Amino acid sequence: MCPTAAFQPTPTTNPFDALGLSQRFAALPAGLHHAVDADPVPDPVLLHFNRTVAQLIGLDPQAGQHELAAHYLSGNRLLPGSQPLASLYAGHQFGHFVSRLGDGRALLLGDVPGMHDERWELQLKGSGRTPYSRGGDGRAVLRSSLREYLCSEAMAGLGIPTTRALSLVASPLPVWRETQETAAIVLRVSPSFVRFGHFEAMYAHRQPDALRELADFMLRHHFPHWIDLPDRYERLLAETTRRTATLLAHWQAAGFTHGVMNTDNMSMLGLTLDYGPFGFMDHYEPGFVCNHSDESGRYAFDQQPDVAGWNLTRLAQALSPLISEEAGIAAISEYPARFAGAYIQRMSARLGLPAQREHARLILSMLELLHANQVDYTTFLRRLCHFDSTPAAPNAPLRDLFIDRAAFDAWADDYRAALRQTAPDDAQRSRAMLRVNPKYILRNHLAEQIIAAVRDHGDTHMLDAMVTVLQAPFDEHPQYEHWADPPPPGSQVMLSCSS
Ligand code: AMP
Ligand code: MG
Repeated sequence: MCPTAAFQPTPTTNPFDALGLSQRFAALPAGLHHAVDADPVPDPVLLHFNRTVAQLIGLDPQAGQHELAAHYLSGNRLLPGSQPLASLYAGHQFGHFVSRLGDGRALLLGDVPGMHDERWELQLKGSGRTPYSRGGDGRAVLRSSLREYLCSEAMAGLGIPTTRALSLVASPLPVWRETQETAAIVLRVSPSFVRFGHFEAMYAHRQPDALRELADFMLRHHFPHWIDLPDRYERLLAETTRRTATLLAHWQAAGFTHGVMNTDNMSMLGLTLDYGPFGFMDHYEPGFVCNHSDESGRYAFDQQPDVAGWNLTRLAQALSPLISEEAGIAAISEYPARFAGAYIQRMSARLGLPAQREHARLILSMLELLHANQVDYTTFLRRLCHFDSTPAAPNAPLRDLFIDRAAFDAWADDYRAALRQTAPDDAQRSRAMLRVNPKYILRNHLAEQIIAAVRDHGDTHMLDAMVTVLQAPFDEHPQYEHWADPPPPGSQVMLSCSS
């Protein structure tokens, strides 16, 4: 008998069955959410499956190869155990309060256990209309979905708190924006998608019981050690304040502009949330506005820290039924000092210096110099890792970035002096700096190339490679050396909110 004749192939198990979804959000008061099904899309195609995120949520990293993967990951098929719902939130949009926003094109599928003790919420973005869609079509276009997918991975690679993305599915379904485009669906993953705006909605709709339940929900699932403390709501506000300060320090140090810092896009856990017309700066430009509909520059790069502070005051107000006025003020008043401390810490690390307030002057003079000379921010800091601190060393690769070489030389003298006082030898400093100064960021002109390749030719090669590079942005990737270059002149892109 042929030895293999008795062999029976094991039935192919469905990795999505093993996810073990449940829906904790459904236990919150009914006014906060609505059960909705995803609206199927025709011919879904899986453009990318993120094995790293799959592992985080305990999903088989090969699940993307399952024949039904694109159906599960687009919402065409319900993931086992999910109870899709859209949640209600409000928000201050460009300073104006809108009392009823909500998930107009997102569906919370449920939550799953992670590798450790944590849980992850799974959310589809672009899966069709919900009761909160207002006039919208509930869809997201391929272009903006690709940008969210790439940028959340870039942020994670840089060590910046962010929601993640498990998968990106495209469909030929036509979607109208300024022109006709096509639809895509991102499956987002986060410890929580709760926004400042969820609390603002309960406050504005005079629902103090639901407000309290939502606050208790956040405490129970994210800060269980505080749940029985009498000052638990003050602690929640103080924690969101601290995390927001840390997040803003990350953004400012990375040269990242979010673009739409409305309170409905602010995460209670201090995560980067809702990627729209964001941008990483190429040359250093403090007034950088990445969203062309933001005419007043409300959300310009250098306004972000103050905007986050203002947004926190909106959150404090929303929580006022639970917290005394003095306690609320005390919780958020820590924000400016927390932000400044965290920013100086990150920037000092980027300069290879210990975190000290005295370095603020050196950091600011560096930024002024980069601005005046239109120097690429990421390139400069990466080259600074190899700064030669011996007296009068020319440091040509850095110096050549400047039009005003004398100004660079003067700054380099100050930098050298600071290094002499505090830093170890050049080799040791260089190693530490290379771990905090990325070689690769998600540059807009590269994102545009990826969008064109996928949209016009269905070609995902650059997308695949870019995800790999962005997941390890501090490493050298010799094959993709050119992706570290600043954009060629004239290729800077302005982006709109329409996504
Ligand atoms: P965003 O600018 O993406 O943060 O969205 C702001 C609000 O508008 C949120 O409540 C979204 O759910 C909603 N929204 C944005 N685009 C759409 C759309 N195409 N269809 C329905 N709702 C949308
Ligand atoms: Mg949003």
